[in-house]
Amino acid sequence: MEHEASAGTGTAGIPDRSRFTKRVYTSLAYFQALNQLTLYADFRDPEAARRADACWAEIGGLLETVERRASAARPDSDVSRFNALPSGGSVPVDPSTARIAARALELAELTGGAFDPTAGPLVDLWGFSPRAYAARDGAAGAGLPPMPYDRAWRDGALPLPDARYIEGLRRLVGTAGVAVEEGGSSGWRLAKRAPSVEVCGHEFQAQIDLGGIAKGYVADEAARIMRGHGFDYGSYSCASSIALLKSAGRLAVRRGSLDFNAYVSDPCSTPDAPENYLLLKAHDRSVSTSGGYGRFYETGGVRCTHLIDPRTGYPAGAAPGEGRAGRRVASVTLLGPEATAGDALATALCVMEPEEAASFFDERLRGAGWDLVLATDEPDGGHGLLTSLGPDELCVLKPGLGAPRRI
Ligand code: AMP
Ligand code: MG
Repeated sequence: MEHEASAGTGTAGIPDRSRFTKRVYTSLAYFQALNQLTLYADFRDPEAARRADACWAEIGGLLETVERRASAARPDSDVSRFNALPSGGSVPVDPSTARIAARALELAELTGGAFDPTAGPLVDLWGFSPRAYAARDGAAGAGLPPMPYDRAWRDGALPLPDARYIEGLRRLVGTAGVAVEEGGSSGWRLAKRAPSVEVCGHEFQAQIDLGGIAKGYVADEAARIMRGHGFDYGSYSCASSIALLKSAGRLAVRRGSLDFNAYVSDPCSTPDAPENYLLLKAHDRSVSTSGGYGRFYETGGVRCTHLIDPRTGYPAGAAPGEGRAGRRVASVTLLGPEATAGDALATALCVMEPEEAASFFDERLRGAGWDLVLATDEPDGGHGLLTSLGPDELCVLKPGLGAPRRI
C-alpha cells in the first residue's frame, strides 16, 4: 500500500506531472539494435526508482528470451532448430516464439503473403540472413553449413542468383507449411508441414524468419511490463519499433499535452549516419517503420533490398518487369494499436507497389485504428510523401520533401 501514497500522485489519483522527471535505460546488447526505455515519474520517491529498475530488469529478461529463442542468428534458437528440421518434423518452442509465429502467420494471411515469415529461404538466397551476413563479413556462418547457391560477395554485393533457385525456393513459401501446436503439458511446438523441394539436384526445407516482426513484439511486451510496474508515462523503442505510452516531458507538461515527439529516420540517409526526417506527435500508440534503405546492394543494375517479396521471390520491386516506372515505396511508418502487427504490416507495405500499399491501407487498416506515412522514390530522383495524419500530428523535418499528400 506504500506505493499508492507515493509522491507524484496529486488529487483524486491524478499524477502531478510537473513533479515528474525522466529516466532512460539503454542497451545495445540485443538484435544488433538500440533498445531504449524511457520512464516518467516522480523519481525523488525511492520507491518509484526501485520500480523503474525492476521494470528494466524484467525487460532485460524479455530481450534475452526473444533473442535466444526467435533469432536466426543463434544456431540453438527455436527458429534455427525449426529451420534445420526435415519436412514432417516438429520442435518444442518457448511460448513467446509460438506467439510471435502465430501472429506472423495471421498477418501473412491478412497481407495476402506480402509479409510472410516463411520467406526465410528467399531471405537467405538473396544474402540477407545471419548466415549470409557472416559470410560477407568473413565471420563463421552462424554455425550453419554453406548452401549450393552461395555466391561470393564483392564490394558488399552479391551476383544475382540462378533463377531456378528463386523459383524453387519460392515454392517453400506459404503459411500452410508451418503449424503452431499447443501440446498441453508438453508446451508449444512448431511443426514443419511444407514438403521439401528439389532444385538443381539439391533438397531444400521450409524455413521461417521472424526478423520482420519480433522487434514489434518486444515493444508490445515492454509496454505491458511498464504498465505492470505502474508506469503510464514513457516509451519503449526496439530499433524501429516503438511503443508510446503518455509523454510527460517538460514541454509536454507545459503545453498540457500527452503526446510524444517520435522521430522517424530518413529513408535516404545511410544506416550509419541516420537523419531524422519526420516528427510525429502521438501517444498510446505504436510506431513502426520499415524501409529498404536499411540494407541493400546493387547488382547488375538491380537494387536488392532486404525486404523480399515472397510473392515474386525477388527483393521488393526487383522482379523482372517490376519497378520499371521508377516509382517505389521507400519507407513506411505505421501508427496503430499494436507494435507486433505494425512491424509486420510496415514490412508488408514496403514490398507492395505504392498504389497497392495505399489501397491496402485504405481498405484494411484505416478503419482499424491505423495511420500511415508512406515515402516514395519518384522517377525524377525525388521523393513523395503520403499520409493519413493531420498537419498537427506530423512535421516534415527534411527540406525539399514538399508537402505531404493526404490520403
Ligand atoms: P523489418 O526491418 O521489420 O522491415 O524486417 C525486415 C526483415 O524481415 C528482413 O531483414 C528479413 O529478415 C525479413 N523479411 C524480409 N522480407 C520479408 C517478408 N516479405 N515477410 C516477412 N519477413 C521478411
Ligand atoms: Mg517489420
